[in-house]
Amino acid sequence: MQESTEREIRIKANSLREKCNVSRYGIVDLFKDCESLGYKLLRYPLGENADLGFSVKKDNDTIIFTNSCIRLSREIFTLAHEIGHILFHLKDGKSFIDDNMTINGRSTDEKEEEANYFAACLLMPFDQVNRFIDLEIEKIPGKGLSAMDIARIMSEFNVSFDMALNRLEHLKFIGSEQRLCLDNEKIEKKVGNLLRSVGGNARLNLPSNEIHIPYEYIDYVIYNYNHNAVPKETLEKVLDCYHLTIDDVSDKLVEQCDDDDDLDELIGGLDN
Ligand SMILES: [Zn+2]
Repeated sequence: MQESTEREIRIKANSLREKCNVSRYGIVDLFKDCESLGYKLLRYPLGENADLGFSVKKDNDTIIFTNSCIRLSREIFTLAHEIGHILFHLKDGKSFIDDNMTINGRSTDEKEEEANYFAACLLMPFDQVNRFIDLEIEKIPGKGLSAMDIARIMSEFNVSFDMALNRLEHLKFIGSEQRLCLDNEKIEKKVGNLLRSVGGNARLNLPSNEIHIPYEYIDYVIYNYNHNAVPKETLEKVLDCYHLTIDDVSDKLVEQCDDDDDLDELIGGLDN
């Protein structure tokens, strides 16, 4: 990637970050920020081997999907990656579907590299990482960052252990040898244990299996049900995602009538 492109990505990541709810260093909940950013977010546990996420523009809607069957820290990175596609690549009406290849940096596709770089800059900007390491991490003379320190960084910036190492190496906070040691320490001690030992957010290392569908979709499906476009089972299925039943929305439902009545009504309407 050219230095000028990298700089452009850093500028966009920085301005998007200003619209997010940030604690002392890290973004608190990027999923929640989607609403104020104007994105329609869908989260669904699609399965461990399914795609990780996608982004698409449809009419006036910008839609992001993330698979909540993957570890929360990876789902957050996927979301940040999709936002990168939206800001840089969705202008020509394209859509992006991402899997393990495109998200973990193994893809050599320019657009995927850009989206990954954007996600890294958004979640772990240099100045915040630098400040966190300076102010929050106790230095032991002669020793660099420990795996517990990485767990602290994970918790603050809501990223995975691997992503933290990638970013710290890229920003030259650690060298390749130290990275190898930290990787080994991770395997030995396990990320969940490391997070618990520093009082961090252990949920990051587990899938959330969250179901989130924009609330207005209830209205869409009720509209379609009222116009005989979807069966009752579909309505029930959608309502179930929101932990609602037919009774909860009964005041919005109209009595189903047969097609002839509909036609009479329509013709009557045209006559007037
Ligand atoms: Zn992608």
